[in-house]
Amino acid sequence: MTKYVFVTGGVCSGLGKGITASSIALLLKAKGYKIFMQKFDPYMNVDPGTMSPIQHGEVFVTADGCETDLDLGHYERFIDEELNYTSNITNGKIYSSVIEKERRGDYLGATIQIVPHISNEIKNKIYEAGTTSKADIVITEIGGTVGDIESAVMMESLRQFKMEQGDNNTLFVHTTLIPYLYGSNELKTKPTQNSIIDLRRLGIQPDIIVTRSNINIGDHIKDKISLFGSIPKENIIEAVDVTNIYQIPINFHKQNIEDIILNKFNLENNKSNLKYWEDLINTVNNLKKEVEISLVGKYVELHDAYLSVMEALKHAGYKYKYKVKINWVDSESLEKEGTDLKKIFKNSKGILVPGGFGYRGIEGKIKACKYARENNIPYLGICLGMQIAVIEFARNVCGIEDASSTEFCDNCNNPIIDLMADQKTIVNMGGTLRLGNYECTISNNTLASKLYNKEKILERHRHRYEFNNKFKQLLEEKGMIFSGINEPSNLAEIIELPSHPFFIASQFHPEFKSRPTRPHPLFDGFIKASIEKK
Ligand code: GLN
Repeated sequence: MTKYVFVTGGVCSGLGKGITASSIALLLKAKGYKIFMQKFDPYMNVDPGTMSPIQHGEVFVTADGCETDLDLGHYERFIDEELNYTSNITNGKIYSSVIEKERRGDYLGATIQIVPHISNEIKNKIYEAGTTSKADIVITEIGGTVGDIESAVMMESLRQFKMEQGDNNTLFVHTTLIPYLYGSNELKTKPTQNSIIDLRRLGIQPDIIVTRSNINIGDHIKDKISLFGSIPKENIIEAVDVTNIYQIPINFHKQNIEDIILNKFNLENNKSNLKYWEDLINTVNNLKKEVEISLVGKYVELHDAYLSVMEALKHAGYKYKYKVKINWVDSESLEKEGTDLKKIFKNSKGILVPGGFGYRGIEGKIKACKYARENNIPYLGICLGMQIAVIEFARNVCGIEDASSTEFCDNCNNPIIDLMADQKTIVNMGGTLRLGNYECTISNNTLASKLYNKEKILERHRHRYEFNNKFKQLLEEKGMIFSGINEPSNLAEIIELPSHPFFIASQFHPEFKSRPTRPHPLFDGFIKASIEKK
């Protein structure tokens, strides 16, 4: 029988609920249990696919092509399990499904209400995660902060869920903030107390409190939370700020969080297998050397927009015992007349152009790519970064001066990047990109085959435009290699330049499959080449 852990947050957002949920998941997996994870987001968008990265950070994509909240990236990196469409539920998804059923007549004349119709739909999504994954334990994180109007019905559904499943099969973890007041030099528990009261008002008594703080909170603070919140003292778990998020599971483990959970669930408490993670932390905490990589994007003011790319770079760095320092370069700033690229890229050993949408900043990215190609600086292009690489090559090596993408100019003369016929009739923006896993076949004797050491790979996609095969022969004649192809649709997946020390780009997003203990082959090769660059 599946057990259910719910992770909520109080006081304010941004406390690291996602990392808390992921850490608990990792620890329970290390005890030998099959874990599945799920995130509920209380906004009305059906998915974050149409949201600006500036507002919401990166859109993470699952293997089955679901566009999801970035927390799912943390989940996958921590538990190393592939999640799917049951893993990210929004109010928009819940409401549209209920309204669709109502229109179809499924409710047989009933008046449709928040309770029970919306709350049932939410509970069904939790059950669905349990039954389809066949996990021993499902961990569901609720986005936002307790007390928000948006998440009220989600919280109500959790209360009902516990009634249905019973106390021994459900467990609530509540994350809160313990602020430190400078001047009076003390830690304050009142916001936590109030947030527990908010939770109780909704009919939920937390089993575990995770306290985020700048410094260790100490016994008397725990006593207070325990007394006012009716939480056993040992169930108060400290989450003191860390410089490296991968440290958190170990910090929780030292406070026996798994024992509390398994005890409540009456599940066997096996010995933890955490050696591999401890080794990782040991590596991360002892990185002495540093390599600088320039990341050229248009959302650089919000680093969360490139979260998985940042993590993938770090993972590859761990393998070579290097800290990866990112030089954030705003692509638009490169477009200004007289910009000194040499100065901007002075300390960078590699240049990465990540994914992106729309025309803004494109010319700056093309400049950066040209600089990397001409100066033998390792280049990794991801999705838009591959489209940029072929446009740059077409313009500056093949002499097609107006080469572009129909995403940037509607009636361009030389659409090196263009829509496929079946994409041209699409009217809806949401959920209509090429999404999720597609196969790619790698040609022998290429950089890609050396890096992957495999002929067939599966990688995750999120894009609308494709390389236009009409130009393939010309580009090949000038020295570009199309080393990865999706054979069923004859689509370019990987390009490279054999005349360059390391120049490779993919139409897919390798960053989603990188794991802290298993860097992705493209990032691995890119960081290795960057480290070796003189
Ligand atoms: N805008 C490009 C496309 O839709 C690239 C997308 C991306 O980089 N994720 O094809």
